[in-house]
Amino acid sequence: MRSHYCGALSTINIDETVTLCGWVDRRRDHGGVIFLDLRDRQGIVQVVFDPDTEEHFKRADSVRSEFVLKVTGRVRARSDATVNAAMATGQIEVLGKELEILNAAATPPFQLDEYTNVGEDVRLQYRYMDLRRREMQERLILRSKITSAVRNFLDSEGFLDIETPILTRATPEGARDYLVPSRTHPGQFFALPQSPQLFKQLLMVAGFDRYYQIAKCFRDEDLRADRQPEFTQIDIETAFLDEQEIMAITERMICGLFKTVLDVDLPTFPHMTYAEAMERYGSDKPDLRIPLELVSVDDLMQQVDFKVFRGPADDPAGRVAALKVTGGASISRKDIDDYTKYVSIFGARGLAWIKVNDIAAGVEGLQSPILKFMPDEVVAQMMERLGAADGDIIFFGADRAQVVNEALGALRIKVAEDQGLVADGWAPLWVVDFPMFEEANGGWTPLHHPFTAPSCDAAELVASPGTALSRAYDMVLNGTELGGGSIRIHKRDMQEAVFGILNIDETEAKEKFGFLLNALQYGAPPHGGLAFGLDRLVMLMTGSSSIRDVIAFPKTQSAACVMTNAPGDVGAEQLKELNIRLRQTREEVEKGE
Ligand code: ASP
Repeated sequence: MRSHYCGALSTINIDETVTLCGWVDRRRDHGGVIFLDLRDRQGIVQVVFDPDTEEHFKRADSVRSEFVLKVTGRVRARSDATVNAAMATGQIEVLGKELEILNAAATPPFQLDEYTNVGEDVRLQYRYMDLRRREMQERLILRSKITSAVRNFLDSEGFLDIETPILTRATPEGARDYLVPSRTHPGQFFALPQSPQLFKQLLMVAGFDRYYQIAKCFRDEDLRADRQPEFTQIDIETAFLDEQEIMAITERMICGLFKTVLDVDLPTFPHMTYAEAMERYGSDKPDLRIPLELVSVDDLMQQVDFKVFRGPADDPAGRVAALKVTGGASISRKDIDDYTKYVSIFGARGLAWIKVNDIAAGVEGLQSPILKFMPDEVVAQMMERLGAADGDIIFFGADRAQVVNEALGALRIKVAEDQGLVADGWAPLWVVDFPMFEEANGGWTPLHHPFTAPSCDAAELVASPGTALSRAYDMVLNGTELGGGSIRIHKRDMQEAVFGILNIDETEAKEKFGFLLNALQYGAPPHGGLAFGLDRLVMLMTGSSSIRDVIAFPKTQSAACVMTNAPGDVGAEQLKELNIRLRQTREEVEKGE
């Protein structure tokens, strides 16, 4: 139908007759001449109809916003006075000769150029309209460029794109499963994959050696913090490569991607241990653009009587840490109160602080409600350790180490954002040497997933699960975990040992993971891989603030689709066929019966 995209026209096309198809972005009537801004995925061009072409002029007069048109006309240069520098095609316009209305449009539910005033629910309900906006088009176009660059890289490195099932058994990644009832096996359910983890491992057992898939994953989580119940991973697995080789190849992939798509040269990724990341940043995904760091002062606080500090300092599971904010002495009491509220979200019971007014004056030059509880020598030693200078503020966390790390780790980011201390650019790193397990409800749970290999042998692992490290690695960029993976367990006895530590007894292990345990005894090669969160990667690369903005049809915070009204009710007949009887209907649940 068309000869050119609207947005692709330029002065090169002057005097050409072109046929365009697109939507009416704007229509203006200027003294007997009609201007139509015609829009397609490449951009907008101005089309002018004058009364010479009577029939088409009349039709142009009748069109409204978002009508779909086919227009034929001649490209001409705009006069100097009418050149529009703000428009990519602003040097030219099309003198319309023929206009066909391919379809009319009802008045749009919201102005496409005033989207910011529209609630997200409305945007999601009319997503096909929202997606017509330039910004959204650009994001999805970039997303497509990203997946294509990733595919090109992986194809060129000998990776094979292999699909894995969506109807499957539970694949534990720490979330709830989405279940699908089986009609042919009454009373039984499939689970949607939380990731292709076990299948990709089995592909290594099968000898495919290098696998990838741009895979949908499903996790039924409480949708805090910008998550989606279904999301996309760039899922990768390899055999016969160790962690250094896997990190190197995927680092090259990400660097190449940034170069191809954004023309950005990423720096070499430093490797940091989990322990160091927690110690210095209170987080296993530190944002290295922020110059602030946590400093432990437990040893000093063991010398004070102040219980709030002394208790955690003496407790092996406790931590007392300081966060010095350069130039932060100007932070007001009200802001400190707000920060105190903020850290309470993470369980901190207060936020002690010291302002440094005149470091040369010793304790006299400091201002703080807690100074009276500390001997002057301790304060002096602390100031020296922190390298405190005039104009600084120092915040403190004292509690269980986990609370201190979470609270000060989050405060570090918040204060840096408020004070304009976040540097521009990209700060990637690898975090390595994670613990195998963390304590939960009196038992152990895996920090990654139960198929991650430890860096010790099975006997050592069983003897001290709490201190064992794993062969896992996470790629972090600007404080966001872009991806993570590990070397896997490839021997049955080790896998059984890990199940044992996780309190999965033999019967349960056989029931749930019998196929994996079996496969491990038929010549499973050493293997490992990782997965990148594609949505998060696209969000960072497009500078978007939510993953919903880089997914064509995302779900709301309550895991629903307001456009299709999913999830929806199911008729009695269909339920019967599935051998399902509802304990309560939706109406009853809503009424709270
Ligand atoms: N399956 C893991 C995940 O979804 C990634 C991996 O270990 O490869 O987080």
